[in-house]
Amino acid sequence: MPDNSLPVLNWLTDMDGVLVHENRAVPGAAEFLEALRRAERNFLVLTNNSIFTPRDLRARLSRSGIDLPEMNIWTSALSTAAFLKDQSPGATVYVIGEAGLTTALHEAGMILSETDAEYVVLGETRAWSLPAITRAINLIIGGAKFIATNPDPTGPSPEGILPATGSVAALITRATGIEPYYCGKPNPYMMRAALNRIGAHSEQAVMIGDRMDTDVISGLEAGMRTILVLSGITQRGDLGRFPYRPTRICDSIADVVPLVEEFAR
Ligand SMILES: [Mg+2]
Repeated sequence: MPDNSLPVLNWLTDMDGVLVHENRAVPGAAEFLEALRRAERNFLVLTNNSIFTPRDLRARLSRSGIDLPEMNIWTSALSTAAFLKDQSPGATVYVIGEAGLTTALHEAGMILSETDAEYVVLGETRAWSLPAITRAINLIIGGAKFIATNPDPTGPSPEGILPATGSVAALITRATGIEPYYCGKPNPYMMRAALNRIGAHSEQAVMIGDRMDTDVISGLEAGMRTILVLSGITQRGDLGRFPYRPTRICDSIADVVPLVEEFAR
């Protein structure tokens, strides 16, 4: 368990449901980021979305009224790239995904290949291609290792839900009998890699999220303190179902602003 007597100088926070909600800033989000900057805390904003690069996300957030430098954004695509860079530097990979994933893998020194791939790397895409999925299946049957960015089965869209990475992974698993290794939440590797990125130790770090089953559990498993905000998925009435609890519960990010100072003492 984390040593709660040490000051918290490093902050990780989930993005959707905490800072933004359907492309609108949650009240208090801008003030929270300003408090972190003013106090000179290390911080990263995390998202399991692997479609966008940090630059794309920065532009999208800025349209919601949130000013966040690229260097403060950590995606499941970056976590996946960090994992491969550590595990298999310069590996050949076959990628199903968008610029967020291909850019991260390229910058991590991976070699993108349609044949002879050592890894199949699956991320989010909005244009699922049966030929690409078929190629991935055959590469895995031929011995390629199977990695995916995040297990989320669905995502939101104006027309209803969309099948997401976890659902396409299930299709590939059904065809191959091979389960992927996921590098995004709820794998605590996503938090560990984020802490490495900012040079922080887990005992002096806190993770904020709106989901008990992803944000809070992975923060806890990475040895961090955790804050649940009730502005997203998990509601107060759900808390009793979980065998673990966050360090602190707040109604929204607005109530976290004073904790930037309180947790540093
Ligand atoms: Mg969330």
